[in-house]
Amino acid sequence: MRREELRNRSPHWRTLLEARWRARLEEVTELSLAYHIAAEGSEDKDEARRVLHRAVVARQGLAETEEALRRLAAGDFGRCERCGAGIPATSLLAAPESRYCPRCAAASAPSRLGETPELTLGMTPSHP
Ligand SMILES: [Zn+2]
Repeated sequence: MRREELRNRSPHWRTLLEARWRARLEEVTELSLAYHIAAEGSEDKDEARRVLHRAVVARQGLAETEEALRRLAAGDFGRCERCGAGIPATSLLAAPESRYCPRCAAASAPSRLGETPELTLGMTPSHP
């Protein structure tokens, strides 16, 4: 009998999260490398900035996945951090890193949805 199966009754979440973690780590590594290449070429500063932004976003995603894995190990995975309600499996399948139930997520969503950093960055003029 595996101890892990006893501790969290949904071992497939771990498999899913670890697969996402690996994919994101790969993305962060690739983007970091791409950034250094872009930053060394002095002609295309915009490209370097775009790649850096994507690397930062990817790294945040990696941290979120690590946080979800920690919650899984602690037995808190799938429970809303704000109200303690269970997060529906459908929500977790779409975003295993979810920390809040749909109701709490909706309450804090507007500020997040309003941000379009990529678009803003893409329109930044290259000359000051
Ligand atoms: Zn909640």
